[in-house]
Amino acid sequence: MRKNIFFRGYALFGKVTAAFLNMLFPEYCLHCSENFTTVEFPLCDKCMEKILKEAPPFISASRFIDSVFSCRVYQDVIRTCVREFKYKNSVKLLPVFEIIIKDYLSKKNGRLIHFDMLVPIPLSKFKYNQRRYNQSEIIAGIVNRILKIPVLKDNLVRVKDNPSQITMDVSGRKKNAENLFKARQPDIFKGKVILVIDDVITTGATLNSCARELLKSGAKSVSAFTFAKTLQ
Ligand SMILES: [Zn+2]
Repeated sequence: MRKNIFFRGYALFGKVTAAFLNMLFPEYCLHCSENFTTVEFPLCDKCMEKILKEAPPFISASRFIDSVFSCRVYQDVIRTCVREFKYKNSVKLLPVFEIIIKDYLSKKNGRLIHFDMLVPIPLSKFKYNQRRYNQSEIIAGIVNRILKIPVLKDNLVRVKDNPSQITMDVSGRKKNAENLFKARQPDIFKGKVILVIDDVITTGATLNSCARELLKSGAKSVSAFTFAKTLQ
């Protein structure tokens, strides 16, 4: 009983402190910069409502990948979230990612529970040292908490970095993404039904390169889960 009162008091204190901080340092929505938001949540109700209402893109297939599951189209509010998350390590965005992924999985759960493991797309050592975190691993962590499928993150390594793909055309991107990955112990992937995880799918070149290495290692099948998908 005592403990309960203590925790209630503590929670109330937290809420009062957050409200007070909001008054002193008002925060604006990360996307529209028009409406107020809270210290803990970076999007305003309007922007959040907008992305919750959006329909996810169709489930597609790609060369070495059976199904590509993507939560939302890479545009508007979602584009802001992915960019901030990827380049500024905005941990404040984690609750947004969690809500959207949960929303998507609650609707497609039946198609996503049959996987043996989640494999986040690895960053090269150089990029990881620069950024200090891998956004695909963070997304895989969220999927793991919801679907309870184990994450395997150290058996696939990125052997080369693809230079920035922004200025390349489609064929340039595909060529650029050849042989990017290597399995350390290929046997671990043998016979497994794998879901690879990335933040965004554009041409699918990077994900296909990853899937090719996994299939070469003996994986039974490879599908992909991404937070967003660009419209081409
Ligand atoms: Zn907003």
